[in-house]
Amino acid sequence: MPCLSLAEKKSANTLAARLARLGLRTDADYVLHLPLRYEDETRITSIRDAQPGVAAQFEVDVIDSEIAYRPHRQLLARVRDAGGGLILRFLNFYPSQQKTLQAGARLRIFGELHEGHLGPEIIHPRFHVVGADESLPECLTPVYPTTAGLGQATLRRLIARALQRADLSDTLPPALRQRLRLPEFAAAIQLLHTPPPDIAQAVLESRDHPAWRRVQFDELLAQQLSLRRAYTARRARGAPRLLATTKLTKTLLASLPFRLTAAQQRAWREIAADLGQPHPMQRLLQGDVGSGKTVVAALAMLHAVEAGYQAALMAPTEILAEQHYRKLAVWLAPLGLEVAWLTGSLKKREKEAAIARVGAGETPIIVGTHALIEDKVEFARLGLAIVDEQHRFGVRQRLALKEKGLFAHQLAMSATPIPRTLAMSYYADLDVSVLDELPPGRTPVTTKLVAEARRDQVVARVHEACRAGRQAYWVCPLIEESETLQLKTAEETFERLTADLPDLKIGLVHGRLKATEKAAVMTAFVANEIQLLVATTVIEVGVDVPNASLMVIEHAERFGLAQLHQLRGRVGRGTDASACILLYAQPLGELARARLKIIFEISDGFEIAREDLRLRGPGEFIGARQSGLPLLRYADLQDAALVEQARAVAEDMLRDEPELAAAHLQRWLGGREELLKA
Ligand code: ADP
Ligand code: MG
Repeated sequence: MPCLSLAEKKSANTLAARLARLGLRTDADYVLHLPLRYEDETRITSIRDAQPGVAAQFEVDVIDSEIAYRPHRQLLARVRDAGGGLILRFLNFYPSQQKTLQAGARLRIFGELHEGHLGPEIIHPRFHVVGADESLPECLTPVYPTTAGLGQATLRRLIARALQRADLSDTLPPALRQRLRLPEFAAAIQLLHTPPPDIAQAVLESRDHPAWRRVQFDELLAQQLSLRRAYTARRARGAPRLLATTKLTKTLLASLPFRLTAAQQRAWREIAADLGQPHPMQRLLQGDVGSGKTVVAALAMLHAVEAGYQAALMAPTEILAEQHYRKLAVWLAPLGLEVAWLTGSLKKREKEAAIARVGAGETPIIVGTHALIEDKVEFARLGLAIVDEQHRFGVRQRLALKEKGLFAHQLAMSATPIPRTLAMSYYADLDVSVLDELPPGRTPVTTKLVAEARRDQVVARVHEACRAGRQAYWVCPLIEESETLQLKTAEETFERLTADLPDLKIGLVHGRLKATEKAAVMTAFVANEIQLLVATTVIEVGVDVPNASLMVIEHAERFGLAQLHQLRGRVGRGTDASACILLYAQPLGELARARLKIIFEISDGFEIAREDLRLRGPGEFIGARQSGLPLLRYADLQDAALVEQARAVAEDMLRDEPELAAAHLQRWLGGREELLKA
């Protein structure tokens, strides 16, 4: 753009940047940028009829205006219409505005009237000088979501222009639209941007209107189409058929001190069937904490090894990876299988040696953290990649693993139970196996709520349990603002408990420890050389020490529901009666109170997840940003019926109407689909 001055270029750049912040690039983006609410400028209200607190439009003459200093500099204008007078008050203003508000000017003003010191007034009304024969607008004025420095007038102009230009043709076949009782796309969109004045504004703003329903359906459909398409694309890629001899898996099953639960057997059958297919498995194994996912993962890994391939298991933290490593090493050593261990904390030489053995195909089974997906790691024959707690990995890490095991079978594991409607959308690109049953013989965990003031009694109880040969966790509060502060608190708690309970062996584990230090503490705890383990939330996932039967969570009111559930799942793993004591500080906020009540009353992970979803709403629930799933702007994932419809329509459309499906995706996602493939 050679003819633009520097200032012009700069302002063009900032406008573009602001629009980009709103995700506005294509005409379709503008068309789908829908109003938050509306203002009715289609009629003029007389000042006499104005109701306090209700926004309305008035047409007035300016009597006079002045800058006052009471107590701050402000601009006051006295105006009137045939029925009465009022004051316009501006606490900040431009000189140009002052000029416009000159005696005799005729204005249209829009705002909420209320009673001020000097009589009725409007603070910061929107206003403009009425043109000679200016008519009233024919539709309600849309108010769009915007960002700092981007005014409504600019947005309205850009959107109106896009509406003229954009292709608004329908992506739903007419028969389908009629069956679903949805209006045409073009009509729905026009109505939402430019509603006629006689429409029920409240209904429109509550989004309970057929036009909104159409938009919500379309948005869900785009999500389903995109997820299903990614699934099909991956499926088309081809993977080695892993034909098992069952020799290793049978030996493992025979050597276990327990029998698989019915749920474990079912999941294992589903996984084994997938592994025998010539395309990659894309399965999620979902099961509450303690439901026994690890052994199912071990069976899947053995299946791959029998077929002559390698299997890798990746976990999000060192502690968790190490637990898997230990357990697998114990189970698999008798079968004569080596388990390789690969994490960032290994010494350089050890790491290089491990990578070399993995690359030469000498180790059939590899367990580790995201060190597994570093560039240097090349698997000789990777047949199966398992990711534990997959939602804890970032999008980039998941993509990297996909690339490593592009042609490998994939199994994700998650202990975060996700309610059905959410699962349909979050996992539309995965097959799901659910462990809906806990192994027998678990004693349910008793949950107690105890006020901070009674901390001494809790300390006494911990003392008693440890003296009786059991072990306990003491979980320190989450301090969101500062990791340093969190660490400090953990150290103080450790010191205080050490002083209070001098005859106990107490350990401390937190995120800042070196991996080897962490491992040393955990090993000592597993061996019962440490009786009381003071910890931050690093123990949240996966830690498995059956002799630990008591958990204290300090400042439980600061934790989220899912976290509390995960933490509580660390006890109740042995035969002793277990308890989880939630210490809370008063006063409790409303949300904290609701969470504590739920965790106290409910032990089932799925039910807790449902309540959590209700409290928090879906976006935050799945951490959508982190998952790479675009947040839904208009649809609500809790609208189960609509989600189901969109899912069914997506399947049909991909099969019968691929061009419409492509057009629909283009409209809604443009070029943003890549993210979804993670
Ligand atoms: P999670 O699903 O939370 O990862 P784990 O795989 O760690 O659960 O299993 C929890 C505990 O239950 C482990 O000690 C495991 O050995 C044991 N376990 C797994 N399956 C069974 C079973 N069928 N019967 C008894 N104990 C089992
Ligand atoms: Mg686990």
